[in-house]
Amino acid sequence: MFILRRAQPPLSPQVTSCRSKQFVKYLQKRIAAAHEGLELGIGDASIIKALAEACGAKESQIKTRYKELGDLGLVAKASRSSQSLMRKPEALTVAKVFDTFRLIAKESGKDSQEKKKNHIKALLVAATDCEPQYLIRLLQTKLRIGLAEQTLLVALGHAAVYSEKHSSAPGHIDSPLEEAAKIVKQVYSVIPVYDKMVPALLTGGVWNLSKTCSFTPGVPIGPMLAKPTKGVSEILDKFQDMVFTCEYKYDGERAQIHYMENGLVEIYSRNAERNTEKFPDVKIAVSRLKKPSVTSFVLDCELVAYDREKQKILPFQVLSTRARKNVKLNDIKVNVCIFAFDILYLNGKQLLQEQLNIRREHLYSSFEEQHGYFLFATAITSNDLEEIQKFLETSVDSSCEGLIVKTLDRDATYEPSKRSNNWLKLKKDYMESIGDSLDLVPIAAFHGRGKRAGVYGAFLLACYDSNNDEYQSICKIGTGFSEAMLEERSASLRSKVIPDPKSYYRYAETINPDVWFEPAEVWEVKAADLTISPVHRAAIGDVDPEKGISLRFPRLLRVREDKSPEQATSSEMVAEMYNAQKLNQRDKQVENEDD
Ligand code: ATP
Repeated sequence: MFILRRAQPPLSPQVTSCRSKQFVKYLQKRIAAAHEGLELGIGDASIIKALAEACGAKESQIKTRYKELGDLGLVAKASRSSQSLMRKPEALTVAKVFDTFRLIAKESGKDSQEKKKNHIKALLVAATDCEPQYLIRLLQTKLRIGLAEQTLLVALGHAAVYSEKHSSAPGHIDSPLEEAAKIVKQVYSVIPVYDKMVPALLTGGVWNLSKTCSFTPGVPIGPMLAKPTKGVSEILDKFQDMVFTCEYKYDGERAQIHYMENGLVEIYSRNAERNTEKFPDVKIAVSRLKKPSVTSFVLDCELVAYDREKQKILPFQVLSTRARKNVKLNDIKVNVCIFAFDILYLNGKQLLQEQLNIRREHLYSSFEEQHGYFLFATAITSNDLEEIQKFLETSVDSSCEGLIVKTLDRDATYEPSKRSNNWLKLKKDYMESIGDSLDLVPIAAFHGRGKRAGVYGAFLLACYDSNNDEYQSICKIGTGFSEAMLEERSASLRSKVIPDPKSYYRYAETINPDVWFEPAEVWEVKAADLTISPVHRAAIGDVDPEKGISLRFPRLLRVREDKSPEQATSSEMVAEMYNAQKLNQRDKQVENEDD
């Protein structure tokens, strides 16, 4: 594989830092942090062209071998190793490959595809042994090394301890490795950018990391998430003896709005992607409605489609018709209202460690409300079952999905990227089923028969287990599809067919689908309940040593364009939903026996 550094003399700290960052990014399968929006932007067609040119072969030959081997990486390795080389090419270094990847990503405009192809070709010409195979897999973003992000962070923490030159672990720390991993994870949750964290580790060491690397406006953090619940009584059970607040759950798009000291505004999506150009109106509204004393802030909110004349919230489907890029103020047809529910940073001070009631006070005192433009999320503080039930009804009458219930005291800090026990969601439409929908990945399909001949008749869905980096089958689905939808999904997945299941798919041999797919799409699915299954493998080992969990009566709701397969519902979540359902059933049984 590519060498990490080429030769003597010893590298300067800057160079070491640069190479370490690049190496970590390889492991992370990304060339830049999500908010930088830098993607390789190449398809198989460009790679095939480059490979053909690098090997002196015809494109048709490469395509035929691709069909035979089912992996372009293997085709590259075989094609290059059969070439006799006049002289050994100069060794590829991590830095060289990484810099070329960034060049590829930055090419734009006229002839950009041709330029990208030429960069790939240059890399392939220099690649030897197994390098072509890994180069191609990196370019296709298909290199799987079974490494979850959390493992990478732990490794970084440990590496920092082993190479500690700056200071040794403070005396009171018993297990420095564990502590260092904890620090790295905590810092990454508030500044998820390796470009900042790795140099800070190398220059200041791990024990100073929280000081040298901290939450910064302009760098989005993962949003705090809520756990599903099935009813008001479950909430009262979970939050017994605690003060909590219920807020309307608005159905729009999560947004983290960063307002910098220099007046610059950036808007980030739930996945930390830069969404600023989609919402120029939001940019103006926050700048106008912040109080004059406010010089910088980071706001957590939901952007919701809004009819300003009728003063009415509009459904999510209306918001999704809004253009994504380069929206001009005069062309906006779908207005949005900002519903603010949290503030994470204010006037140069981060508020993540503050309790929610304190953050709320800051929020309420920092902005003016204006109907149709900027409102605070409607909220009540109560622990009365009937009152909360009524509040749930009014939220639904006001075109919301239900409630988000949040603890106000006891460690009610903001927990970035975490599905926390301190936030619960109650969705009206799911109270009768399993509390929430699931986001699942189609990994295989069965050919349709009769009316469905020519399209797929049913699909095998999987959840994602991030600890083992694998997709575990959870159910077969054939309902919830309109004819048009089935055509559309079949057409889209046909291009994702692979000859064999991936090594990281877990399923029972008895399932026997007709075709397998790359993990490519995420589908939102509703189900009647969860059950232990001898066939499916979701959360296997969590609730039963040999059996997994499956969904009964799954129905397709929609495709989640905003989620990548690795952001599908986790097997951990599936196990939690199953356990919650079991508890509910037991409670109901006890209630019935009491009657
Ligand atoms: P999740 O974000 O929990 O993975 P999801 O994207 O499918 O799941 P939902 O299950 O519908 O979204 O619920 C969570 C989302 O609800 C939040 O991410 C946020 O966008 C939205 N939301 C609406 N109102 C609020 C509120 N008052 N507080 C927090 N989040 C809210």
